[in-house]
Amino acid sequence: MTDRKPVRTRIAPSPTGFLHLGTARTALYSWAYARHHGGRFVLRIEDTDVARSTQESVDQILESMRWLGLAHDEGPFFQMQRLERYHAVVEQLIAQGRAYRCYATPEELDAMREAQRARGDKTLYDRRWRPDDPLNPGKRLPPVPPGVQPVVRFANPVDGAVTWDDLVKGPITIRNEEIDDLIILRPAPDNAPAGAAAWGVPTYNFAVVVDDMDMGITHVFRGDEHINNTPWQINLWRAIGGPGVELPFFGHCPVILGEDGSKLSKRRGAVSVTAYKDAGYLPEAMLNYLARLGWSHGDDELFSLEQMVQWFDGSHLAKSPAQWDPAKLAWVNAHHLKQASDERLADLVREQLASRGVVTDDGALLARAAALFKDRCSTTVELADWCEMLFVAVTPPEAELAAHVTEVVLPGLRALRERLADEVATPWDKAGIAAAMKAVLAECSLKMPQLAPAVRVLVCGRAQTPSIDAVLSLFPRHRVLAALRHV
Ligand code: GLU
Repeated sequence: MTDRKPVRTRIAPSPTGFLHLGTARTALYSWAYARHHGGRFVLRIEDTDVARSTQESVDQILESMRWLGLAHDEGPFFQMQRLERYHAVVEQLIAQGRAYRCYATPEELDAMREAQRARGDKTLYDRRWRPDDPLNPGKRLPPVPPGVQPVVRFANPVDGAVTWDDLVKGPITIRNEEIDDLIILRPAPDNAPAGAAAWGVPTYNFAVVVDDMDMGITHVFRGDEHINNTPWQINLWRAIGGPGVELPFFGHCPVILGEDGSKLSKRRGAVSVTAYKDAGYLPEAMLNYLARLGWSHGDDELFSLEQMVQWFDGSHLAKSPAQWDPAKLAWVNAHHLKQASDERLADLVREQLASRGVVTDDGALLARAAALFKDRCSTTVELADWCEMLFVAVTPPEAELAAHVTEVVLPGLRALRERLADEVATPWDKAGIAAAMKAVLAECSLKMPQLAPAVRVLVCGRAQTPSIDAVLSLFPRHRVLAALRHV
């Protein structure tokens, strides 16, 4: 790919819900592409759907981007703060004969479509308000109906075709006769902010072009649900910028499929980035996993963000949809969890515990615990499950007690309790506890696989843990003695 201008990419979420995983993926591609080329990454909030956009959603999108670590170099820009600019471009297009006011009422348009359907035609706007209709020269416009607030439509070319070389899908051609005269500006709804009444509110396809042009965007990565919008956008680019305008490159990434093969959707499980944060995934693991859902670098499955930036040059983007695989995501997360520092994991576990009402400020203890347990965990939630026993009394399950705390091991458990209670003979650390265990095994003729699971069940509530001396040393001595007190 030859780049003509400094690379500038953007992500342009609509604040009508949380940051979707698919949007997070295209944000990652846009960000990585900009970073790879030493370019700039722009964040734009496309909030022109006044009825559905919320501040809560804006906050959540910004928080998700921050958590993922996809830092923007410019923005966030808000489209609702640019109404005057869109209005000016609309006026320019009207003056050039490239846009026109349409007074057709919704009822009228319904009737038009109904008639088209009855004839077996495609339901496309019939250009009834287009002054210079190339397919109907010399036509006379209907009289302007009183009291109707017009929309503004773009006078789309009626013949020819739009072609672009998609970065993901390759060459795509869509004929202009397939698309109609798009509404580019609507009267402001009653609840629109001040200023909107005078300027109107742009539609997505129009605002996106004005913005991408004004913001110097060179590469657009987005979901392939926008392929059908691209011909309109390219026609608008040419109408606004002139026939010689330099278009951005477009890359349309296939949808992410859910586990059942249908489109990933809220109904079929979590699709928001923050849900994965809460479920104990690390941002670098999410990005690693998302990157691979639509892009590859040889057989590499596990990589850092730095490596991705180094590798991501816009090639090797997958044409076909990838399927969401929670087991693989967990595997990727487990890998990054092992790489994470114990201090960072301690902070994350502390947050997880706090959300369960378990409050601790013993970061050093949590870091030691993280070091010990992280190899067994896929998420920080699982890590918190392990660490919780250090702060909350454990009730061993009956079945585990019956299976492991048997008559045979009871004398050993009692002997161990006595040794552990002796503060002089047993220093409270891994070596001291190991020595006490060893002495008890010899004294009671028991084997480690008999004694250790019984201790684990009583202290930790489960029969399998990392090395028992290391685990016990995480607890205060009195907690272990209390757990052994009934034997
Ligand atoms: N606001 C659009 C969306 O969220 C942006 C599409 C685009 O990137 O052009 O789908």
